[in-house]
Amino acid sequence: MSRKTLTLTDDLYDYLLKHTVREPPLLSRLRDVTAALPDSNMQISPEQGQFLALLVKLIGARQCIEVGTYTGYSSLAIAIALPAAGRLIACDINPTTTSIARQFWREAGVDARIDLRLQSALKTLDELIAGNGAGQFDFAFIDADKTSYLAYYEKLLTLIRPGGLIAVDNTLWSGAVADPSDNEPDTKALRAFNDHVYRDERVDLSLVPIGDGLTLLRKRG
Ligand code: CA
Repeated sequence: MSRKTLTLTDDLYDYLLKHTVREPPLLSRLRDVTAALPDSNMQISPEQGQFLALLVKLIGARQCIEVGTYTGYSSLAIAIALPAAGRLIACDINPTTTSIARQFWREAGVDARIDLRLQSALKTLDELIAGNGAGQFDFAFIDADKTSYLAYYEKLLTLIRPGGLIAVDNTLWSGAVADPSDNEPDTKALRAFNDHVYRDERVDLSLVPIGDGLTLLRKRG
């Protein structure tokens, strides 16, 4: 019994994976393909992907936004969880990694649900707000450049409906957020983000220690 969150040993993490992850073969293959890339640690973990899919189903999400697509693991997990009429706007700036994503979306038969916008995510979010998108989205996932997290969050909070959910990855940053000697720009940005949302009365929140830390923010109202 423990009154605090467990530290997972390798054996226990392996047990967790074996007793919870029901990864579709296509997602598993996407992880294999991505593992060969130099920055493959940008991909979310399989239990995180499954958790995002569960959240999407729990809130009955139909309109979703993702900031940071990389090779498409999270977008594929989300799109598979959506109803056929659901839609995910995927924001990224890298045509090379997202070409892998596109290939897997097609193979999964969910490419019609995903609208990839290859430009600055801030520009895409501004365009959505200007195009009467405010309050029209159910779910958002942020997993991109850490120094822009606060800016993404503020725009997404405008776009999300009351009761909608924003999930934010890497909020524990391998533990660096709690290491006062680490003052790298990304670490400082994540600390500032965590401090900001903790004080933000517009949302209910939980920082879930899954993967590298996943903060869930439910828009009040
Ligand atoms: Ca991440």
